[in-house]
Amino acid sequence: GLEKVATTDVALLNNASRPLCVDGPTGDGGCFDAVRNNPLNGWKPGFVVWALVSSDVTAAIAFAMRHTLCVSVLGTGHDFLNRHSCPTGGVLIRTTLMKEVTFLPNTTAHGAFRFGPGLTFSEAHKAAANVNRVVASGWASTVGILGWSIGGGHGPFGPKYGLGVDNIISLEVATSRYGAGRGAVVVANSTYNWDLFQALRGGGGSTWGVVVSITVRAHPIPTGGFTVAKTAFVGSFCDEVYNPETKLYGRGGLGLLTGQAFDWMLGLNSNFGGLSYWWAQRTDKPGFCGANWTVWIQYAYLGPPNSSELTASFDLLTTQGDIKAALPAYYKGYANWFEYVDGDCEPIYPWPWLAGAPPQRPIGGLPSALVDREMFEARNQRPAAA
Ligand SMILES: Cc1cc2nc3c(=O)[nH]c(=O)nc-3n(C[C@H](O)[C@H](O)[C@H](O)COP(=O)(O)OP(=O)(O)OC[C@H]3O[C@@H](n4cnc5c(N)ncnc54)[C@H](O)[C@@H]3O)c2cc1C
Repeated sequence: GLEKVATTDVALLNNASRPLCVDGPTGDGGCFDAVRNNPLNGWKPGFVVWALVSSDVTAAIAFAMRHTLCVSVLGTGHDFLNRHSCPTGGVLIRTTLMKEVTFLPNTTAHGAFRFGPGLTFSEAHKAAANVNRVVASGWASTVGILGWSIGGGHGPFGPKYGLGVDNIISLEVATSRYGAGRGAVVVANSTYNWDLFQALRGGGGSTWGVVVSITVRAHPIPTGGFTVAKTAFVGSFCDEVYNPETKLYGRGGLGLLTGQAFDWMLGLNSNFGGLSYWWAQRTDKPGFCGANWTVWIQYAYLGPPNSSELTASFDLLTTQGDIKAALPAYYKGYANWFEYVDGDCEPIYPWPWLAGAPPQRPIGGLPSALVDREMFEARNQRPAAA
């Protein structure tokens, strides 16, 4: 029912004094551009609201309620399940530009951060490093701290600092609960609106309201900083454990490695947090029996690269088991986690304007983009779409 939306109401929401970017029947179309994971084919919001402050969010919710429109919300758009989309015609609230960073030194023993819902891991780690802290996060630089936290939140510091949900202290949520046509911001924490707090911690995004701020625990940087440690194992798809002629492990070797690697992982203490990728590829190379396999293991360690706990542990995995690593363990130290995220994690491509499909690139994560806040604050100086 977009045609039912009164033009005057759109104009009200699109008021130039409030830097909202709204595309409706009177919009210019540019705001429909959105970088998302796996958008459901053909789903397209009727209105896209680039909120800058929480009152923009409540205005958008109230607008949607007045016109009985579906509301969806996204920060980075990294959702894998299309939960950030409505069928054609809804209101999409983008919190991408809500970038508050406030350090609250007295909230816990090591302080806390109140973050805007548009903050990425990279930005959160930069803020934390500035005051010698670290926050719980996943690995990549471009994922949103909010969507990750409320959806569960696995990451390299999980064993030591807890999951994303464990680190949430408080949320401010724009809801529609105070009656038709009136959005309102409520606090959800262990004291206020505890049911909403519980639901949001793990219930995931896009369900209970639009979060306009999240307060998370800060943690101290470990003595000696952080290390990222990596290694890899490779082999063929031939049946044997090992072929001395080709010097390749086979499928039997992969079976042994499964036990070896998982036993090793289960023996690690909470200074270690990591992940492993197991994949196979077809190959016609002689000696591979049609395919090769690779096991790539990467861990963050809370301590310096020369820690004997770290090197002894990776030595055990790479050289002392039945299956030896193809690559010796590689260690790189970082004074804080932002150094890793900024320097050695997935690349981020700053785009002057969201230009549809991301450029082809040789490496990196899933599509991510940086959006220039000033373009929305200076509405009339926005560059033409690329
Ligand atoms: C490259 C990449 C790496 C990843 N690495 C990890 C990892 O290491 N560990 C891990 O656990 N997960 C990881 N994930 C998964 C990631 O945690 C989820 O996809 C998460 O939902 C992304 O959150 P987001 O805020 O970035 O995405 P968004 O798409 O912006 O939001 C995710 C969900 O939250 C909702 N939402 C967004 N903003 C709000 C808001 N203000 N209020 C209410 N709801 C909102 C959206 O509607 C959507 O349902 C990764 C994903 C990607 C793409």
